[in-house]
Amino acid sequence: MKKQTRWQLSAYHCFICFFLLVAGVFFASVSFSFASEELDLTTEEQAFLASNPVINVGVARNWPPFEYFSSRHSELQGISHDYLSLLETLLNLKFVINDKLTWLETLILAEKGKIDLLPAIMDTPYRSYYLDFTQPYVRSPMIIVTNSQVSFIANINELDGMKVAVVKGYAPHEMLAQNHPLIDLDLKDSAIDALKAVASGEVYAFVDNLAVASYLIRTQGLANLKISGQTPYAFDLSMGINKNQPHLKSIIDKALLHVSRQQHNAIYDRWVSIDISKPFPWMQVLLPISGLSLVLVILSFYTFYLFNLNKKIRQVNARLTLTELELTEKNAQLKCVSITDKLTGAYNRHYLDKALSKQLALAQNHNRPLSIALFDLDYFKKVNDNFGHQIGDAVLKFFTDLVKNNIRSTDVFGRWGGEEFLLIFPETNKQNACILADRIRQCLEVHLFEAGFKQTVSAGVVEVQANLTADQFLFLADKQLYLAKQTGRNKVMS
Ligand code: GH3
Ligand code: MG
Ligand code: MG
Repeated sequence: MKKQTRWQLSAYHCFICFFLLVAGVFFASVSFSFASEELDLTTEEQAFLASNPVINVGVARNWPPFEYFSSRHSELQGISHDYLSLLETLLNLKFVINDKLTWLETLILAEKGKIDLLPAIMDTPYRSYYLDFTQPYVRSPMIIVTNSQVSFIANINELDGMKVAVVKGYAPHEMLAQNHPLIDLDLKDSAIDALKAVASGEVYAFVDNLAVASYLIRTQGLANLKISGQTPYAFDLSMGINKNQPHLKSIIDKALLHVSRQQHNAIYDRWVSIDISKPFPWMQVLLPISGLSLVLVILSFYTFYLFNLNKKIRQVNARLTLTELELTEKNAQLKCVSITDKLTGAYNRHYLDKALSKQLALAQNHNRPLSIALFDLDYFKKVNDNFGHQIGDAVLKFFTDLVKNNIRSTDVFGRWGGEEFLLIFPETNKQNACILADRIRQCLEVHLFEAGFKQTVSAGVVEVQANLTADQFLFLADKQLYLAKQTGRNKVMS
């Protein structure tokens, strides 16, 4: 039973292995024909691949990150390795890598036609005698490595007069020696030696390709170094192919063309870490600052302009207020002048007219008493004639003051014209008005003027009656005054 089971299991395993083998061959042929179709290989190229499934490859053993052997597994690493892996999958090829040879021995064997392909090599005139080169598939710019204290190097000419390390025999050596004779070149045996010389301050800078420099800085722990600038040169890497294998060259060219941009970038980014020093972004900083400054300047000018405008408006307003005050005062003065007699300071006839109309209306509307007295200085012409006009004026002023001092605050007194005066007694009947008027008459009568004369006055007093107009009221008073004059003057008639 056990034997039978073991036998059955072995048969089962054999069957599985056979199946996998058949499936593997099937898929390999399918994928090959698929890849061949995709790459558009010619019949000759397809035949070459079918008859040459193994390709001899020669590499540099210690040229990171392009190609080198890891110390632990002795396996090819680097950019070359990644591209070879891609090509193996794409072409269903097997690359056999010779890991025992030095780079020089590799080149000698390649020259003899014993190596089919060199995956990472620069096209030089001498190598072209025995190798065909594919289109460059990696471009690594030549850069300048310095101590991290150095700021951005914008132009390679800034290195003139400086001590700059290059690896002996490498492309930068040839380029700088030919094109930049003013640079003081310090030849080193390897890139790592050159980098250490920069780190120690022995040289100012190191020029090599970006891939090698950035890889070594990163992996060798040279933290105080940085890539400070670029040169106008670049390092183009191609694949070199034995001149006797033209089909292989065209196949590899087609396969490399088939590698997508993303695949190229993925390999490059995996091996080349770029940390290039950039110039200080003056434009990015200065543009907003200058824009902001401009806005601030405009705002300041505008604020200053507004401040001045406000100041002027305030000044004009102050002047306006002052003018308004002066105007109000002038109007008040004008009003005062318009109702005042210039000589005596008593109310003038214009005011008396209005006051009389008003009092008459009040008295008649409310049936209240109202009286008036019309005064006329007696023989006043003689005063002017005998003592002069000025003395006459003084008499008029004296009489005005005298009346003002002898009437009530409610009474209204003014100059009616010439040497005639009107006194209005609101809320006063004829008898009381006569008493007041006569008191005035008596006061004047007893006064002796400086010039040595006395002055008398006559008055006509009337009390209001219903339906009497102002003119009729005055006429009646004038009539009483006339009577006083006719009957000897210096008396009050009513
Ligand atoms: P009667 O008693 O009849 O009123 O005589 P009278 O001289 O006062 O009257 P008359 O009408 O003849 O003269 C009035 C005078 O008053 C004439 C005029 O020179 C004088 N007089 C009028 N106004 C003024 C004035 O403002 N100043 C001076 N000094 N005299 C004036
Ligand atoms: Mg008169
Ligand atoms: Mg008179």
